Amino acid sequence: MSDCIFCRIATGEIPSRKIYEDDHVLAFHDIHPVAPVHFLVIPKLHIPSMAELLPEHVEVMGRVMTTAGRLAHETGCTDGFRTIVNTGRVGRQEVYHLHVHVLGGPEVLPAML
Ligand code: IMP
Repeated sequence: MSDCIFCRIATGEIPSRKIYEDDHVLAFHDIHPVAPVHFLVIPKLHIPSMAELLPEHVEVMGRVMTTAGRLAHETGCTDGFRTIVNTGRVGRQEVYHLHVHVLGGPEVLPAML
């Protein structure tokens, strides 16, 4: 049994509010949303963070990013959205299974940078 919470979500061992799933990628609603639309897209393969990405991950990460964009549109983010990938201590990453946050809604999001 994996001790990675997102691996356990990917296998269905821990329930989630799934938006999309295929053999390589899973998307589910964030448990603590900070925007009207807030979901996560993960590779099913356990990659701890963006800092550990390797050339062999190019295909699955392409799937993650194209899924994020498609699902943003399908969940109503037709006028834009924000994607965030927190990485490591400095990036305040909490869950060490690479994930892309997708944030959006009807209103313009607060400025970040
Ligand atoms: P990050 O690692 O800082 O990017 O944040 C991890 C994100 O995962 C946070 O926004 C959490 O609310 C979210 N999260 C943690 N556990 C779960 C869960 O079991 N289901 C859905 N989202 C989760």
